[in-house]
Amino acid sequence: MIIVMKRNATERQIDHVVDWVESIGYRAYPSRGTEQTVVKAIGGERGGEELKYLAALSGVDKVVPIRKPYKLSSREAKEEDTVVQVGNVSIGGGSFTVMAGPCSVESEQQLLESAYIVKKAGASILRGGAFKPRTSPYSFQGLEEDGLKLLAKAREKTGLPVVTEIVNPEDLDLVESYTDILQVGARNVQNFALLKKIGRSRVPVLLKRGMMTTIEELLMSAEYILSAGNDQVILCERGIRTFETATRNTLDISAVPVLKELTHLPVIIDPSHATGHWKYVLPLGRAALAVGADGLIVEMHPQPEKAFCDGAQSLKPETFYELMDELRRMEYVMSATAKVLV
Ligand code: PEP
Ligand code: MN
Repeated sequence: MIIVMKRNATERQIDHVVDWVESIGYRAYPSRGTEQTVVKAIGGERGGEELKYLAALSGVDKVVPIRKPYKLSSREAKEEDTVVQVGNVSIGGGSFTVMAGPCSVESEQQLLESAYIVKKAGASILRGGAFKPRTSPYSFQGLEEDGLKLLAKAREKTGLPVVTEIVNPEDLDLVESYTDILQVGARNVQNFALLKKIGRSRVPVLLKRGMMTTIEELLMSAEYILSAGNDQVILCERGIRTFETATRNTLDISAVPVLKELTHLPVIIDPSHATGHWKYVLPLGRAALAVGADGLIVEMHPQPEKAFCDGAQSLKPETFYELMDELRRMEYVMSATAKVLV
């Protein structure tokens, strides 16, 4: 529930409310606004008698229940968009952020070349997997710490923040010492031990929807991270499994407006894993901007035909430049007061 304090509530009254809700088994998350303080009380759900007294505590204006099961992630708990700040890059709140790079870090030359292309094209975050969750144990599993070192080197050379996947909770200290955003992949969206662990980190998280995860389940996974204390979460729609086989997955484009209504967290789209083919990345990149997503994560490789993984869905540098140009053109058109119907 949300306890809205009166405008003139004192610090003592706020502290008293916090102590009180904690004493009946809730966790309290006070947020002190410029005009008013609200205290979110999460977890207890004891309901009953005690809650009746809450509204009567001094300094309390009103008590509003949060009906959704994902409490901290819901718009009910926080109306304004969350903006995740990564260095100088803001994700959410009206900007459109492009993250790009190879599926996996393969070598110094491959990664640095990719990083310079990402930078030159005007994208703002470099992606690259050092720990790869592969369907087959015989497939390339990633360069691990050597890959993380290369990501750090690429950041040093280009100034681009980096995003990389963490697959094992035990690797948190290692991965967070190198990366700017921790990626949780589709296969780990319900790895609750991992979610709880990264919830204790202060590094922003990119949480991908699983291929068989409902929107509500995705938000419940985000809730694991937020409730453990990390509120810097970006959601990613990357395609779900349907009966369709023409594409690797089916991009659930409607997830964007639905999520925008249900949550304040930023939402980005991954058209590469959604479709499995580079030629669909550009049209779906345009769709992401048009539908109101906060950005894109795309796979781009200097030589996709030589990629260790996901080459078929990786853009070549020229196609990536084209995508960025298209997005800029679309942004211009969308911001211009054009008369569509005359
Ligand atoms: C990836 O980003 O390379 C990846 C493995 O993505 P997903 O978890 O969405 O399959
Ligand atoms: Mn990939």
